[in-house]
Amino acid sequence: MICGGIDIGGTKIEARLFSNDLATVEMRRIPTPKERLADFIDALAEQVRWLEQFSHQGQDLTVGMAIPGLIDVHTGRAFTSNLPASGHDIAAILEERIGRRLPLMNDCQAFALSEANGGAGEGFKTVVGLIMGTGVGAGLTCDGHLTPRLNGSALEIGHIGIPAHLLASRSLPLWDCGCGKRGCFERYVSGTGLAALGAHWLGRPVTAEEIVASAQAGGTQHQQVLWQWAEIASELLLIIQLTHDPDCIVLGGGLSGIPDVVPLLEKPFQSVKLGEMRMPAIRCAIHGDSSGARGAAIMASRKPL
Ligand SMILES: [Zn+2]
Repeated sequence: MICGGIDIGGTKIEARLFSNDLATVEMRRIPTPKERLADFIDALAEQVRWLEQFSHQGQDLTVGMAIPGLIDVHTGRAFTSNLPASGHDIAAILEERIGRRLPLMNDCQAFALSEANGGAGEGFKTVVGLIMGTGVGAGLTCDGHLTPRLNGSALEIGHIGIPAHLLASRSLPLWDCGCGKRGCFERYVSGTGLAALGAHWLGRPVTAEEIVASAQAGGTQHQQVLWQWAEIASELLLIIQLTHDPDCIVLGGGLSGIPDVVPLLEKPFQSVKLGEMRMPAIRCAIHGDSSGARGAAIMASRKPL
């Protein structure tokens, strides 16, 4: 059986066709319409049609979709900051257009589901997929399956407030977050967060890429910034452990590409974890850019339509 997945992002809508063993066979990206809902639905329908040409003998190809944001389980409405479909039941509107309903899921959940099945979290019981990129979010699976969620959300841990002692000990201010709150982890731990930490301590603008490259080349100031970032990020790992106690945490997003990111995070995590609690396995994601579509495809192929 082949299946399809559509990863809906703020800049592109990516459709992927997967083989039996969930490897990408075909892939197609188109820009995400940013203004009108009708154009956005048109683009989704276009991607579904493109995938359907690969179906066999007139059978419906299973296709799932992933978006960044919340999906109300009761109304089907999606809430997302970067799409012209926020507040709408995307699956229902698309169904009117294409004649069938495709399941929709949160993209962090898709990431976790993908890595727990044939990915870096394969073989573990409870897997948290932690994405640290433009934003910070996570997904959770148990025995390779998603857990039911009231808000169709992932683990919105990027918007947990950073502990006061982390700010006080590093003379860091409370930074405003895009969610409307202040002092969210995301502002310190994401890619832009790493750049903001660097700018704060170095006294000049700097990008996350510069910090990582310079630290790698032996630049001591940038190494200090990166170690401080890792100490703050390890407190987020501690929160994951205290609340979910997973046996595996899979890292994704741009910052998971920092060289030796696993030992960089494991070291401070060892020193902040509680007493005799065992360390979870920490792994880097295997499926990279395909995770959103791959996770959505797995969900769709399992869920009765
Ligand atoms: Zn926030």
